[in-house]
Amino acid sequence: MAEGDWDFIVIGAGSAGCALANRLSADPKNRVLLLEAGPRDRNIWIHIPVGYYKTMYSPLSWGYDTEPEPALDNRRIHWPRGKVLGGSSAINGLVYMRGQPQDYDHWRQMGNIGWGWDDVLPYFKRAEDQERGASDLHGAGGPLKVSDIRDRREICDAFVAAAQEVGLPYNDDFNGPEQEGAGYFQTTSRDGRRCSSAVGYLNPIKNRPNLKIETAALASRLLFDQGRVSGVAYLQDGTEKVATVAGEIVLSGGAINSPQLLQLSGIGPGGLLNDLGIEVVKDLAGVGQDLQDHLQVRSIYRLNQAISVNDDVNNIFRRVLIGLDYALRRRGPLTFSAGHACAFARVLPESETPDVQFHFIPFSAEKPGSGLHPWPGVTSSVCQLRPESRGELAITSTDPRQHPKIIANYLATDYDQRVLIEGLKLSRKISQSPAFAKYVADEVEPGLDRVSDDELLVHLRAKGGTIFHPTSTCRMGQDERAVVDERLRVRGVASLRVADCSIMPHVVSGNTSAPAIMIGEKCADMMLADAHR
Ligand SMILES: Cc1cc2nc3c(=O)[nH]c(=O)nc-3n(C[C@H](O)[C@H](O)[C@H](O)COP(=O)(O)OP(=O)(O)OC[C@H]3O[C@@H](n4cnc5c(N)ncnc54)[C@H](O)[C@@H]3O)c2cc1C
Repeated sequence: MAEGDWDFIVIGAGSAGCALANRLSADPKNRVLLLEAGPRDRNIWIHIPVGYYKTMYSPLSWGYDTEPEPALDNRRIHWPRGKVLGGSSAINGLVYMRGQPQDYDHWRQMGNIGWGWDDVLPYFKRAEDQERGASDLHGAGGPLKVSDIRDRREICDAFVAAAQEVGLPYNDDFNGPEQEGAGYFQTTSRDGRRCSSAVGYLNPIKNRPNLKIETAALASRLLFDQGRVSGVAYLQDGTEKVATVAGEIVLSGGAINSPQLLQLSGIGPGGLLNDLGIEVVKDLAGVGQDLQDHLQVRSIYRLNQAISVNDDVNNIFRRVLIGLDYALRRRGPLTFSAGHACAFARVLPESETPDVQFHFIPFSAEKPGSGLHPWPGVTSSVCQLRPESRGELAITSTDPRQHPKIIANYLATDYDQRVLIEGLKLSRKISQSPAFAKYVADEVEPGLDRVSDDELLVHLRAKGGTIFHPTSTCRMGQDERAVVDERLRVRGVASLRVADCSIMPHVVSGNTSAPAIMIGEKCADMMLADAHR
């Protein structure tokens, strides 16, 4: 090992970074530094599940915006990302989802040895503390608490029943043997409190003497010595500080910030770096490329009776009861996640596994994060699971505080458009099925006047938005454009890895926090094994 203050430096305390910091510091001989740009997670709304509705638009988010998206009526799409201990797992919608086994088998078939479903399942299980107990597919006793929804609502039951009426099977566990079907989500929470990766992985071990957690510390550039990474410069309290490493640095800044930090440090497309006057350490064309995200589009229904959360929140008496219910029993709407009922379905005939996911919530608003409608309303949002469209991001300045330019490039292919148009049609079909139809006064969005594919596409372009799952900007692979290899080592740069959503060769068919945690768990094992060697 070279000389350095630390054996391992983890940059970014998000879903993946907290898992890494925990596992790497388990051996007291390893000196581990965890750098996090955001603050400690003291804000109460982080820990009350429904608080994501507030925090995602607060300074606890980086608050990115895409460039105007040509296929979405040139709208800029707002991209919250967590900037706090726990990262995006501290402000996300709490849905616990791993994706499909086929996602990981596909990664392996692309040449990424060690990333097939059988390889990654042990890490999902090791991470998990499943409320229902351990099984072949689930773990118990791990850091990440996974629990059933605490309160089911009549209108969510109706959605699940209607989905069955149109032919989907009931599914009691979307992370079980089959993903397809309709049922209820499980969430990363316990007893009505969020379990972010900071709560699960850092709180129990934060006093380890060999682990230092620095918050409000923005990593600004990596330092190099004879072709290997030797340390990192970071901004804290208005000054630049330096931490040196004897072993390895692992970037876990997430799908926007990890490629940004690589580019700022001279690892990225040579032309871009030259244009900005950044010395090229390693010309890696793929850094910031191949960006993927799940695009969602919502259907909103006005109900004929006051049984939605809108009605609770818009009534002063019922609002007080919500507060009391949470204070006394940790139940009620304050425990709600960003999805209550769920359905995974195949909308294209050629799909062998689900190609869309529905998040059904018993409330509605003009847009996520804004005030609830003043009438009884619910939302059924559909997202495409495996988009073909790929975007990119690039720094525009050498200032690490400056946001990179993000092009999501949504709906760039005919296939992506077709899947979501069919998804909207299935949403309508479920809403018109007897179990649900009896509650519906009106389809507010897209509106029953939008029937043809072209009309639904107009709605998609006008209203489609992110479901907050950007990935693949430091893609793992064996080809020239890949940024990391199957051990997550940055190609051509010694002592440097990336472990977060950015390494996914393809976005998984589901929500992305549990997979990011799995990536952190697996990367820690690889780093420890390689250090021993
Ligand atoms: C509003 C919202 C709702 C979501 N809902 C769900 C959901 O319900 N279920 C689900 O599974 N997923 C959900 N997601 C997605 C999921 O949370 C993320 O994909 C996942 O948490 C990403 O993990 P990560 O480790 O890649 O990065 P992150 O968790 O984003 O962590 C990156 C960390 O690095 C820090 N950092 C970045 N740059 C630097 C730097 N230069 N120096 C120091 N620190 C730095 C950041 O502040 C952050 O703490 C949601 C995301 C959002 C934003």
